[in-house]
Amino acid sequence: MKIEEIIKDLDPVTIIEFKNYIIEHLSDLCSTKNSNSKVISRFKERKTFCEKCGYKLHKNGKTKNGVQKYICSNCKVTLSETTNTIICHSKLSFEIWRNIIDNLLNGFSLRRIAEENTISLLTSFRIRHKVLYALKSFVENIKLSGEIQSDEKYFSINLKGTKKENMPRYSKKRTSTSSPYRGISHHKVCVVSSIDEKDNLLLKVVGLGRCTTDMLKDSLGKKLNNAKSVTADSASAYQDFCETYNLILNAIPSGFHSNGISNISEINGIHSQLETWLSKFRGISTRHLQEYLDWFVYIFTMKKRFLINKIKTESYSKILIDKNYIKSKDIFNIKMPIDLNVAYAEYINQS
Ligand SMILES: [Zn+2]
Repeated sequence: MKIEEIIKDLDPVTIIEFKNYIIEHLSDLCSTKNSNSKVISRFKERKTFCEKCGYKLHKNGKTKNGVQKYICSNCKVTLSETTNTIICHSKLSFEIWRNIIDNLLNGFSLRRIAEENTISLLTSFRIRHKVLYALKSFVENIKLSGEIQSDEKYFSINLKGTKKENMPRYSKKRTSTSSPYRGISHHKVCVVSSIDEKDNLLLKVVGLGRCTTDMLKDSLGKKLNNAKSVTADSASAYQDFCETYNLILNAIPSGFHSNGISNISEINGIHSQLETWLSKFRGISTRHLQEYLDWFVYIFTMKKRFLINKIKTESYSKILIDKNYIKSKDIFNIKMPIDLNVAYAEYINQS
């Protein structure tokens, strides 16, 4: 129901009382145990069919927190309004979730988020990764069109959080055979970064070492929608890439930001913003690097699309209703986006 419709027949005195009541009780109203599921049922279509077998779902009472439950008429699977959403199994209220999402958009540390919301450091860690995971689909839907600037950024490998038994074995002794990777070391993680004329941004971990045409195809290539040209340094990877996709290549001589007509100053600006932003976190595991890049893209995009205040409301309703639930234990099992055996090839199997 629209807010305008609720209040259109009220007299001004009641409206003012209504307003005062809301202000006074705002915090209580937003922290009831079913506050999150209310948000979900407002924004999302009611569940009607079973996802497993397609049969009709029937209402099946409510949980003790007032969340609607359903049962499948065929396979008897039970679910609730919050199943598969980020708040599934969460006992925290909307008020707290909203505040945490707000904290995350402001880039607060885990410890500060824990203190401010009186939750444990572990809960703070889990929620941060759940929210970052939920941003994935938002970022995946961004397409680039028209004139595009593109460049790469290289990161050092960080194995923070990797279990001992999964660490690559290596000895200090290096092989004498020369590395097939010249210039950029294959110990560096390559991130393709591109921006179009409408500020749609792509930051994608593509692999190890110098960026290749295949890496570009696998990242930027999948994001193109009516693209016309790419401005990039004169690396051959871009020449082949632009030929494949029928794009005009505006090559910038390496070491320069401009060729006199086109430039890559915008994407270079993004790189320095990204560096400043990432430096707030104490070392980011390569395993989670893409999540942090998605986080940056999310904030960047939302700032371009909405006023600051709107970002918060848009963010929590969006993050809450999206089907992007990741179990806490799976956070640790997110796949390494790079092949450690390649990175450490010259150290492994030494005799
Ligand atoms: Zn079913």
